[in-house]
Amino acid sequence: MSRFFFHHSHIYNEMNIKNYINGEFVNPVKNQWIDNYNPSIGEVYGQIPNSTEEDIELAYEAANKAFSSWSKTTLDERSSILSKIAQLIKDKLDFLAEAESKDNGKPLSLAKAVDIPRASSNFQFFANAITQFASEAHESVGLDAVNLTLRQPIGVVGCISPWNLPLYLFTWKIAPAIAAGNCVVAKPSEITPMTSYLLGEICNEAGLPKGVLNIVHGLGNSAGQAIVAHPKIKAISFTGGTSTGAHIARTAAPMFKKLSLELGGKNPNIIFADCDYNNMLETTVKSSFANQGQICLCGSRIFIEETIYEKFKQDFIKKVSQLKVGIPFDSETNIGALVSKPHLEKVKSYIAIAEEEKGKILFGGKEVKVDNAENGYYLQPTIIEVEDNQCRLNQEEIFGPIVTIMPFKTEEEALTLANDVSYGLSATVWTNNLKRTMKVSQQLQAGIVWINTWLMRDLRTPFGGVKNSGVGREGGFEALRFFTEPKNICIKY
Ligand code: NAD
Repeated sequence: MSRFFFHHSHIYNEMNIKNYINGEFVNPVKNQWIDNYNPSIGEVYGQIPNSTEEDIELAYEAANKAFSSWSKTTLDERSSILSKIAQLIKDKLDFLAEAESKDNGKPLSLAKAVDIPRASSNFQFFANAITQFASEAHESVGLDAVNLTLRQPIGVVGCISPWNLPLYLFTWKIAPAIAAGNCVVAKPSEITPMTSYLLGEICNEAGLPKGVLNIVHGLGNSAGQAIVAHPKIKAISFTGGTSTGAHIARTAAPMFKKLSLELGGKNPNIIFADCDYNNMLETTVKSSFANQGQICLCGSRIFIEETIYEKFKQDFIKKVSQLKVGIPFDSETNIGALVSKPHLEKVKSYIAIAEEEKGKILFGGKEVKVDNAENGYYLQPTIIEVEDNQCRLNQEEIFGPIVTIMPFKTEEEALTLANDVSYGLSATVWTNNLKRTMKVSQQLQAGIVWINTWLMRDLRTPFGGVKNSGVGREGGFEALRFFTEPKNICIKY
């Protein structure tokens, strides 16, 4: 794959991204800009608005103006526009996947197979779900009264998303928000703005009325903060880091904003000797290193029953050593670039920490210089054997291609190790014992438990974490409940 390919083959090269406000693409009010990098070659390829509270105010005003009519559109009308957006995303799959891969560093094959199809499914799912999301009625027998519970849209809501699954997570918030009749001020990550920018064009093409969705680009502590601090934006759906989530909660608390916070994870992958070994091994490679380990659901702490520990160690190292680190656009690539230079440095710092903590690096641990992309941010998939679950490597979210492994003796010990962490997003368990499946699942402190699989999602099911992994749930009717206010009307007849 040549350097030339990265620089010159796409129409969006060197293109400046603009804010999408009231259906128009506009420059930021203060005309300040931020560089946007292509992490696979470590070079700037465009600029994005460094928006300020003035831009957020314009976006709010557009959204507020659109709300009076959008909130009164019929469910069929909304559903049909969401379906059109879903279809257009599908039609532009190749183009969007290339944009996502270039902006984020993820393998193109992953963007094509997962990220972009899922962004389309997010719209299609809520296009259908909104038509099923009924208000409730309760007859108060003996009191000659009937109670209605209306589910009304909130008004203008804020959606803020991270860089790891850019369009996937951005649309996972926007689709239910607008399906429920709200208007949105949304901010994607400043590190991966491209596909969110392209979504604006798609919404116009699908006939989404002006102002229903407004996309403002910029930094978290200015543009993001201005959304959270805006007194009239009444709900915030946020996905990102735990410390950012805490900051958002502090800003929002005095205004009693409704919050959905999907935060970090440090997910256990518990492997019992009685599992289907080959399936476990193959999936464990994915749950460890998919998207360079930059998925909040990656199983970054692997606990293995002692009796198969040595065998697993050998087989896992062998499989991982076969993964190809390379340019995202190369179809052979399994591990692309990390998202940014600062993130690469952060992830690398854990390799130094491993050495201090006497972790044993069984594989990887080194930066990779990829041909024709020597300045890109590549790191080997890395396996570290640790002795103590309290080490920083097992307690802190690394969010990169690093996993730790550790043996356990009993089911109780596995559960203690899995739960002894501040996070509680997801957990994976490998076993063919039904009784153990239920016992362990019930006791794991996690919002999502996968048994003999990983990352399988039915969009009707609740998604989210416990402990420091967040507050609230997305997915299915949970998301529609979040984006609506229930109102009780009691009628005495
Ligand atoms: P981040 O918290 O740095 O940023 C997320 C978003 O918040 C970005 O758009 C950013 O600009 C914005 N932001 C930052 N500071 C802000 C502030 N003060 N006010 C308002 N907005 C602000 O996270 P990141 O580095 O982009 O993403 C990685 C993190 O996201 C990891 O911790 C990962 O686990 C988490 N994540 C969680 C889930 C989940 O569903 N639980 C999914 C994906 C990623």
